[in-house]
Amino acid sequence: MTDVPVRSKLALTGGADFWHTTAVPEADLPQVMVTDGPHGVRKQAASASDHVGLGGSEPATCFPPAVGLSSTWNPALIEEVGVALGEETRALGVGVLLGPGANIKRDPRCGRNFEYFSEDPYLTGALATAFVKGVQSQGVGTSLKHFAANNQETDRMRRDSQIDERTLREIYLEGFRTVVTQAQPWTVMCSYNKLNGIQVSEHHWLLQEVLKDEWGFEGLVVSDWGAVWDRTKALQAGLDLEMPANPHHEAAALAAYEAGDLSEQTIDAAYSRIEKVMRRAVATLADAPDSFDVDAHHALGRRAAEQAVVLLSNDGTLPLATDADVVVIGEFARTPRYQGAGSSRVNPTRVDNTLDRIRELAGREVPFAPGFSTRPKQAAVEGAHDEAVALAAGAGTVLLFLGLGEAHESEGYDRDDIDLPADQLALLDDILAVNSNVVVVLSNGSSVLVPFRDRVRAVVEGWLLGQAGGPALADVLYGVVNPSGRLAETIPNRLEDVPAYVNFPGDVTGVRYGEGLFVGYRGYDAARRDVAYPFGHGLSYTTFAYADVTAVASGDDVTVTVQVTNTGEREGREVVQVYVSKPQSSVVRVPRELKGFADVTLAPGASATVTVVVPADRLAYWSVIDGQWVVEAGTYVVEVGASSRDLRGTASVELAGDEPARTLTLSSTMGEAMQSPAFAAKLQEMMTSTFGDLASDDSLGMDAARMFADFPLAGVVGFSGQSPEEFQKLLDAVNAERSR
Ligand code: BGC
Repeated sequence: MTDVPVRSKLALTGGADFWHTTAVPEADLPQVMVTDGPHGVRKQAASASDHVGLGGSEPATCFPPAVGLSSTWNPALIEEVGVALGEETRALGVGVLLGPGANIKRDPRCGRNFEYFSEDPYLTGALATAFVKGVQSQGVGTSLKHFAANNQETDRMRRDSQIDERTLREIYLEGFRTVVTQAQPWTVMCSYNKLNGIQVSEHHWLLQEVLKDEWGFEGLVVSDWGAVWDRTKALQAGLDLEMPANPHHEAAALAAYEAGDLSEQTIDAAYSRIEKVMRRAVATLADAPDSFDVDAHHALGRRAAEQAVVLLSNDGTLPLATDADVVVIGEFARTPRYQGAGSSRVNPTRVDNTLDRIRELAGREVPFAPGFSTRPKQAAVEGAHDEAVALAAGAGTVLLFLGLGEAHESEGYDRDDIDLPADQLALLDDILAVNSNVVVVLSNGSSVLVPFRDRVRAVVEGWLLGQAGGPALADVLYGVVNPSGRLAETIPNRLEDVPAYVNFPGDVTGVRYGEGLFVGYRGYDAARRDVAYPFGHGLSYTTFAYADVTAVASGDDVTVTVQVTNTGEREGREVVQVYVSKPQSSVVRVPRELKGFADVTLAPGASATVTVVVPADRLAYWSVIDGQWVVEAGTYVVEVGASSRDLRGTASVELAGDEPARTLTLSSTMGEAMQSPAFAAKLQEMMTSTFGDLASDDSLGMDAARMFADFPLAGVVGFSGQSPEEFQKLLDAVNAERSR
């Protein structure tokens, strides 16, 4: 590096073009290509470069986007998909795949939710880690994005996400922390927005202090495309690579260096991180095969899609017999909506639809009517509505495919509501007027309202399932596949029920994350608000019984076990979920949080003991006062179940915790001070000598001890009979005793 001139070192901190890093001939370092991501490789030709998915790209497998992958709750399967993505990345000569996205689904309106995993940080972290491990096992890198607090698209380049420190740590950074510490992604992509008043690309605390220093991130920080406003400030804050490079930024950074305002050490730090990552990519790509197994990857995409489908409700109409008298209505059955719009839009190697597979399974030409157009800007298809209603009238069962068209949800803007299109809801109403046997199958990238759910026989949530997802849906409808997908996001009854509702998407002054920790199910549960389908929900064609929940603390872990039995008549996969709460706590707590999960596949009548190990430090909260993670001492309640609202067994466990001893000061309250036995005795003595025995004095009509618990010690000095100096000496002695 010492032989490389500063100008060339600085040049490496900006890309050569949209998709390539800059070559450094003096260091014999060639350009490396990076490309989107996440659920397929979007390799554009130089002539068609853009970062929002406008130009075409080479064919690659379109796996289910994160909204589908996350519904599998299956890290092993996601890792397999990652491996295939890594193979394709490598075969296409690309060094880094730009994904996965680990932002929290704070509000279903976020236009990009389909690229994110969940409303829950633990689930997000576990699944994104598997994704990164899979891709990187192939010797190519990933880019964990969009770091951080980029939970909406409205005004995404500027909007200030205003988040309190504990919420930021526990909800919005936690998934990222998990992936960084467990899988070391080669790159982390900084987001466009501001965080608490500072542009993220210039956020020293976030990029340098937290990501690099605290979490030990070894890779490079790349900007989101166009997220840098000032290269000098960005480099000084811990950003390494500006993509694509802005030549004015580079010239200004060089001038800053020459003026002594940007140190060579800062440039070197970025240079060496980029160089290290690029050399790894160069080594992998040197002997990369130039093709991948298109059919095998399509088959894997289908397997992933099968597990992603969520059976929301079912009165027994599903699964269908192959000779059932059905008709298919809805354009989505013929023209699947299988991925979202924007930079992640992959050019698939092929696309299979649901209708063909239904006809194959039924062994006949099942009648079909499109019913509506999936393109909102296109005028209603003449007569399509009436034709569909007429078809429904004479049918045994109507399979009605509803959903959001591509332009409804996209990178770059948010949805205004979470309704299905009005013409589709009108079609459903008219069909129900002539036929009460309706099964609704949904295609959408984030939650939609389902006010019709009690008027139809079954609701199947098909999310976005990738290029092979069409037949997977048919296989679920006919029971070729027993559904096992689970909701990674709550489906609310009303948009207004969403905990973030009034604080989304904010305005030019910023977006206040006013719901704090109470995001998604944490908020619905705290308010005891009814939801359409809760987080973790998903039915099967069989049933499972849970028994004998135990939770045992040993060493640094809590081991949870439960006996699960398949009590139905089909083989099935059950996703066992472990939620933990801390009813007695000194800090604000949400009612329950997902802290572990595991799946088990059981034949009819079979039982198994499912074990989930929860490391105690996963139960820590972020203590703002101590500036660290703290496991509180005391009783933790462990709930085990099939969803966040279908809890089948409870156990409790005592943890010693690791609370740091806090220094008592005059600002500490009496309640806090009373926790120290040495101090409690002394304080009690002072109180009694001044006020008598308050604890047993009923005539006061109040719980005096409780009232005094919130008095700061500064206020106690006055009636303690001691001088402030004497009082401080007492505190010093207690503090010395406690820290011993
Ligand atoms: C998106 C990123 C993407 C990048 C490159 C940006 O607009 O936010 O997710 O990786 O473009 O296409």
